[in-house]
Amino acid sequence: MSDLWLELSKNQHFSKTFGKMGIPFPKDLKRSSEGWKSDCLKDKKVMVFGTGALLEDLNSTLKELSANLISDRAEKEKVDALVYDATSIATDKDLRVVYDFFHKNIKAIADNGRVILLGSIPNEQEDIMKASLAQALEGLMRSIAKEVGRKGATAQLVQVGVSAGNRLPGVVQFLLSDKSAFISGQVLKVTNEVESSNPCKFEKVLDGKVALVTGAARGIGRETAKTLASEGAQLVCLDLENDRALLEELSEEIGCKVLTMDITTENAGEEIEKYLMDNFGGVDIVVHNAGITRDKTLGNMSEKLWDQALSVNLYAVINITEKLLEKCLRDNGRLICLSSISGIAGNFGQTNYSASKAGLIGFVRHLSKEVAKRGITVNGIAPGFIETRLTAAIPVFSRQAGRRLSNLFQGGTPRDIANAITFLSSEGAYGITGGVLRVCGGSFIGA
Ligand code: NAD
Repeated sequence: MSDLWLELSKNQHFSKTFGKMGIPFPKDLKRSSEGWKSDCLKDKKVMVFGTGALLEDLNSTLKELSANLISDRAEKEKVDALVYDATSIATDKDLRVVYDFFHKNIKAIADNGRVILLGSIPNEQEDIMKASLAQALEGLMRSIAKEVGRKGATAQLVQVGVSAGNRLPGVVQFLLSDKSAFISGQVLKVTNEVESSNPCKFEKVLDGKVALVTGAARGIGRETAKTLASEGAQLVCLDLENDRALLEELSEEIGCKVLTMDITTENAGEEIEKYLMDNFGGVDIVVHNAGITRDKTLGNMSEKLWDQALSVNLYAVINITEKLLEKCLRDNGRLICLSSISGIAGNFGQTNYSASKAGLIGFVRHLSKEVAKRGITVNGIAPGFIETRLTAAIPVFSRQAGRRLSNLFQGGTPRDIANAITFLSSEGAYGITGGVLRVCGGSFIGA
């Protein structure tokens, strides 16, 4: 069945009629195919306010990104972004000032606009009021994200740890750019856990880096390989031998190296390590993207289906990473695992898949602490409803529900995931480790 609803939603007449009936329609999200740019906020009106100590640095980052900074606006004037530094709120009056600012300005947010709230990390606070207020910002931001979603606009909370303010520029660039179009209602924690002094780059963010992407023949992996390559990385694209032709076609397009194997074979880690050492002397970025579903309700699930999903999605990731960490993954490296909303919320008929994807969340959390001293970050990405062959196979009503039950009322694209992976692969993400970034349009599932 063709996607009639998706077609209708692009029609302005229907969109207005349904809008009047209280049924919100998705806005077209602005996503350029251009690479990362140091002037990505050119012509964007950004209103910055707050009482925190990061305001000055924030202003200079925004200037560097060529934003048109404004401190006030005319009554009907629209703004592209609202950025508020609430890292030092300590009293009810301070939170009230946050309310005042957003109450006065939230309606002015333009289509495809951005809201960023900076707060402190609640469990780093020494008194109960500060901890409560830092947490209150999360509820505020998540609700703002739901209210501005109709405009295709997004809101995020960035929790900044003690002495980690200097790690914000790359995060601010990503969140205010069109690269984060499908991320909404999320909390990003920025800390100085990872030892690194690498300067953040705003353009060609992966120049000189070597990256391995597993499951790169199609879908999210293929788009990720293309995006990483367009930012200057040299790519090794891995998939099953059956997909050699697809990988070779990709190699013609982006000049990547092709490596075929089943990642669940016993010596996969050794083979990958040897390939990377022989060809590049090591690797900087590893994207564990290869994944499979083997769905059945638990009572009907054979041992084989259970083992297959766990082996590909979790055990292969652990085994290969252990090997690569010995000498192949360089200091200041980046490890990114494709988890899933199912790993957070669980899903009917996906006990094996959900267990494997939740296992990855534990893996990321634990490993990040072990490798922080080497400047290596380890993160997960949890895609929501992404328009791929996987989701095209879902029955039409569930498919529509999957899309629309989110702040942005629509599904994402493989490029949205690739952009988030590129961000986490960059130097500018050195403050972010051990967590899972949901790229889900603010999906109501598992929120
Ligand atoms: P896909 O099926 O299009 O691509 C996965 C690739 O992994 C395929 O090319 C496949 O050949 C490869 N692969 C599978 N088993 C392998 C093995 N043993 N050895 C080597 N390669 C192997 O899937 P996708 O939709 O692009 O998803 C990519 C990742 O994102 C997966 O880990 C998936 O679980 C996760 N994810 C996807 C979605 C979505 O909406 N598409 C949502 C949540 C999570």
